[in-house]
Amino acid sequence: MLTGQKRFIVGGTAADFFLVYARTNLEAPPHKGITCFIVDRSPGVTSEYLYGLMGCRGGGTARLVFEDVEVPVENVLGGIDRGAEVFQTMMIPERLGTAAMTIGAARPALEVATDYTAKRKAFGQPIAAFQGVSFQIAEAAMLLDASRALVYATAVAVDRREDPARVRRMISETKKFVTESCQQVAHHSMQVMGGIGYTNVFPVERIHRDLRLASIWTGTNEVMAAIVAHEWYREAKAARLARRTRDPEPDAAQADAVGEKVYE
Ligand SMILES: Cc1cc2nc3c(=O)[nH]c(=O)nc-3n(C[C@H](O)[C@H](O)[C@H](O)COP(=O)(O)OP(=O)(O)OC[C@H]3O[C@@H](n4cnc5c(N)ncnc54)[C@H](O)[C@@H]3O)c2cc1C
Repeated sequence: MLTGQKRFIVGGTAADFFLVYARTNLEAPPHKGITCFIVDRSPGVTSEYLYGLMGCRGGGTARLVFEDVEVPVENVLGGIDRGAEVFQTMMIPERLGTAAMTIGAARPALEVATDYTAKRKAFGQPIAAFQGVSFQIAEAAMLLDASRALVYATAVAVDRREDPARVRRMISETKKFVTESCQQVAHHSMQVMGGIGYTNVFPVERIHRDLRLASIWTGTNEVMAAIVAHEWYREAKAARLARRTRDPEPDAAQADAVGEKVYE
């Protein structure tokens, strides 16, 4: 019997079935006591609430409530108490997909802003001639290209099935970097369009609202930073112990200075 609730479920108002993670072993540590279930919209499953969202309004985001829902054993995914493994696997396409689709949302904002600033005139010339404008377009183009490059690099690491810890770090830094960069792209795109960019005459304001979610959902960017830091220190320690990389520390002219390297 499944009992509990989960807020903010995209598709929650209309989906026929749900992927649900639930505690199945209260004695075990959380990552060893969670199971993943496929739960049909069946007796005991209700969608309670449709949120008024800032953006991304087409998703039918709802609060799901489960009250004594019977779930057949064949609907267990990945084995009892092994939901954490399913979750880790699912977060690869989920977080990398969020990064990739964020680029897809930011690109048209920049295209609209580029076209607008090339046409709009102030003081007798297109506003693109002012560096205050064109440098923001340049910054946005750079962030978009860097975002694309990082998504491709991480996708290659996933495809090659590189070390899972390294992949986890790359996924997390890609999700954080790309979503924040694309929010900057939308910000610059609106800024260079002045007042009209803030209206629904152009699609940039909607893109701006939609993109705001990307740094919050599927794990906030603060949680992404925590994962990056955790894996980075682990990798650095492993590399140091295995002496895989050349130690750059003695390169300093006074590397042997007596009494200067104080750590406590
Ligand atoms: C529109 C929308 C759609 C969504 N769709 C889905 C969906 O389909 N399925 C689904 O399962 N979820 C979905 N979510 C949920 C979303 O993933 C969560 O809202 C998000 O992960 C943050 O969790 P929270 O809201 O509980 O915030 P909290 O965990 O309460 O976080 C609040 C703040 O505290 C910070 N914080 C919390 N813990 C830490 C920590 N350990 N270290 C540093 N900072 C921390 C966070 O970064 C954040 O800034 C959706 C949310 C929204 C708004």
